[in-house]
Amino acid sequence: MDDTGAIIRFSQVSKHFDAFQVLKNINLDVAKGERLVICGPSGSGKSTLIRCINGLEPYGSGDIFVNGLRVGAGKRGMSEVRGRVGMVFQQFNLFPHLTVMENLMLGPMRGRGMSASAAREIATRYLARVRIPEQADKYPRQLSGGQQQRVAIARSLCMEPEIMLFDEPTSALDPEMISEVLEVMAELATTGMTMLVVTHEMGFARRVADRMVFMDHGEIVEVAPPEDFFSAPKSIRTQDFLQKIL
Ligand code: ADP
Ligand code: MG
Repeated sequence: MDDTGAIIRFSQVSKHFDAFQVLKNINLDVAKGERLVICGPSGSGKSTLIRCINGLEPYGSGDIFVNGLRVGAGKRGMSEVRGRVGMVFQQFNLFPHLTVMENLMLGPMRGRGMSASAAREIATRYLARVRIPEQADKYPRQLSGGQQQRVAIARSLCMEPEIMLFDEPTSALDPEMISEVLEVMAELATTGMTMLVVTHEMGFARRVADRMVFMDHGEIVEVAPPEDFFSAPKSIRTQDFLQKIL
């Protein structure tokens, strides 16, 4: 944590893919325990923005700090940042040849040096947290998409991160499975977890977000509490976007 109390800080962050500027002078502070929902048109830089937080993408200029540590500053700093930041993607990326329990135990054993019995205990706890304790011995292909995504969330939680990043976690799901995943995320929000969620599920956003972030063409165009964001968006670009999706 730096002296401003921000657990995540973007300071004048820009990034290019060759000549294309994907992030334009991003400034953003996230307080510990805060829930941000990030929305914006496809290609606006949302995934790139959150992937920069845990070093999955290098950024060009500016600084990103996680808990006061600069992201990208050497190997040791990076592994420390990664240990604090969990990430859930649109694709679940579970190991198909491992059971649910084995998928969950892998991180704690390999990444945190836990014994098998300690890893099993923690895996059991988080599998219950995502409400599928009975699926421990199944293989991913035997689960529904919603259940697989809940396993992916539990797998991240087994690393006991301080920050959770979600990149369109329900976009690949059949409609009837979206709410079970959003429920688990809403419940996680009540535990004080710092969460950054890229999603177009605006019902979830209204219910869970402390602040909405709207991105367009690599810029943060608007940041506002959901009450203001949805009822009185300031920017024309935000208004246009909301009109299209609501
Ligand atoms: P969003 O998540 O908002 O849809 P992204 O962050 O995925 O946007 O991408 C923003 C822009 O950057 C898109 O136009 C995309 O085509 C481009 N982009 C993303 N990744 C790469 C890459 N590895 N190389 C070149 N361009 C990329
Ligand atoms: Mg994306």
